[in-house]
Amino acid sequence: MIFMSRIFVFLLLILSGNILPAQLRQIAITIDDAPMGDGPYFSGERRGQMLIERLRQAGVEQALFFVITDKIDQEGQTRLNNYVAAGHKLGNHSHTHQSANKIPWQDYLADVATADSLLKPMKGSVPFYRYPYLHEGADTLSRDSLRAGLTAMGYANGYVTVDTYDWYIHALTREAKQAGQKINTTKLRQWWVDHLWRSIQFYDSVAVANLGRSPKHVLLLHENDLTGLFISDLIQKLLMEDWQIIPATSAYSDAIAQEIPKTLFLGQGRVAAIAADKGSAPKDLVPPWEDEAYLRAEAARLGVFTEP
Ligand SMILES: [Zn+2]
Repeated sequence: MIFMSRIFVFLLLILSGNILPAQLRQIAITIDDAPMGDGPYFSGERRGQMLIERLRQAGVEQALFFVITDKIDQEGQTRLNNYVAAGHKLGNHSHTHQSANKIPWQDYLADVATADSLLKPMKGSVPFYRYPYLHEGADTLSRDSLRAGLTAMGYANGYVTVDTYDWYIHALTREAKQAGQKINTTKLRQWWVDHLWRSIQFYDSVAVANLGRSPKHVLLLHENDLTGLFISDLIQKLLMEDWQIIPATSAYSDAIAQEIPKTLFLGQGRVAAIAADKGSAPKDLVPPWEDEAYLRAEAARLGVFTEP
């Protein structure tokens, strides 16, 4: 009887979503800095079409694009509209993409408000704010003023749980292309997917160690050419590893969304911040590959870019 009731309670917990079966891992796709200009491979317009097509083919129902409203020109607006028509959402990534650690919080909030006034009338916009560079203010006064200001505007923090250096791999690719180097696309694809996969595993293990469970994850990507080229390969890898892709807006229903970090160590995302609050040393919460020199050396070692 006792045995039966335990099974019953266990089933109830699963059905109510309070615990996850051991293997189930979930992650949402968020893509920053939309609408980005032309890249080393594609025009912004072409890249947007590729992203829509590849997300659709990979079965991703809803990605969340964080928008820099100052970057919206006529084509950019069409691109954002196309994302929304394809089922994706738009979040606020400020008007001019400044670091909250570098400007007065009052100016910062005014910039967010400008972005808000432009985004609000758009179909598909959702009230999540992604801090540029994941900077939330240099001290507790600015951090808390920003938090209060965002809440007053109706925003929730569009945090990440998996920080990445995808933007630096893209910068190295652009540099190689400009220098006329040969780019081994197979190696570049493998390197990009591996980088993200390692980061996902890293932050998931930090989560399991500190929360006792795997939360609904939020992956940080950027709206650049490599995301356009390789997003399907990444999704394929995640599905192969038994991860489930979830809509970004539902990822923020996880309990960690309510767990507001006390630390100022916020640049590695929500899971790392919670771990820091629980006493982990910041140096243990940054994987070695989130580093420019590390990635440059890795590209050389793997032979991703070579002289023609
Ligand atoms: Zn950004």
